[in-house]
Amino acid sequence: MVIHQAKTLEEAVKLRHEIENSAYLAGGTEVLRLNSSVDSSAELIDISALLDASISIDGDKLIIGAGATLQSIKECELVPEFIKDAAAFCSSFEKRNMATIGGNVALKRDDSYMLAALLAAEAEVVIECHAGEKVKPLSVYISKNCKGVVKAIRIAAGRKGWAKKIAITSSSHATLIAAESEGMYAISASGSPVAFGRDREIYKNIEFVSDLRGSAEYKKYLASVIFEGRR
Ligand SMILES: Cc1cc2nc3c(=O)[nH]c(=O)nc-3n(C[C@H](O)[C@H](O)[C@H](O)COP(=O)(O)OP(=O)(O)OC[C@H]3O[C@@H](n4cnc5c(N)ncnc54)[C@H](O)[C@@H]3O)c2cc1C
Repeated sequence: MVIHQAKTLEEAVKLRHEIENSAYLAGGTEVLRLNSSVDSSAELIDISALLDASISIDGDKLIIGAGATLQSIKECELVPEFIKDAAAFCSSFEKRNMATIGGNVALKRDDSYMLAALLAAEAEVVIECHAGEKVKPLSVYISKNCKGVVKAIRIAAGRKGWAKKIAITSSSHATLIAAESEGMYAISASGSPVAFGRDREIYKNIEFVSDLRGSAEYKKYLASVIFEGRR
């Protein structure tokens, strides 16, 4: 395994563009595990020491450094409860203690712990790109194949909402994760792209698929109970 020690985020981004088969190494819970979704022959660019792991308020924004672990998010009193709940969807303390929010967002998994809650919170992503720093809505970031480094996630301070995970056990991969915040809805269902929007009925547009975590009909039923049952 090749691991490059980048000295700056700019150097890391440059390497990521130069080396076709490469990935960043942050918490390493995904890139260093067996059967990772990241190609095991990919060259790793270690950014773990370069990422800001702080969580702070700046004006009306909550800024979560990309290096903040799911455990530090769960423990931080500045973080809204539903975002803490999403961090806690990762049920293993060991994993929460290593996994970063930047890595979680960058993976864009269909069972992502954080994505639904952050999309419902209308989060913004601060990214170091080859053209310098950019800020994009998370909804735009996940639609692109961005090779930049996520530096921070920003949401409105004090944002209210809820997030729910449905899985066979607390440590199983999610069948469905749904969230709402101030009229914005988001839903991740295994096997389907994450859906989000201001219409409570967004789940009706999802093409649910049957897999080991449940049938398409079951997932649609769960989504309807979660969204319609809260009217
Ligand atoms: C057994 C097991 C089960 C898991 N189950 C789930 C699950 O159900 N849901 C879920 O969401 N995750 C799951 N994960 C994956 C993982 O633990 C989390 O998503 C975690 O938050 C990833 O963060 P990390 O810092 O460990 O990322 P890393 O493993 O360091 O990196 C993961 C990916 O993110 C990219 N990346 C990392 N940091 C950045 C950054 N700052 N900017 C841009 N790109 C970056 C890397 O290029 C790489 O492709 C699981 C992992 C394990 C080992």
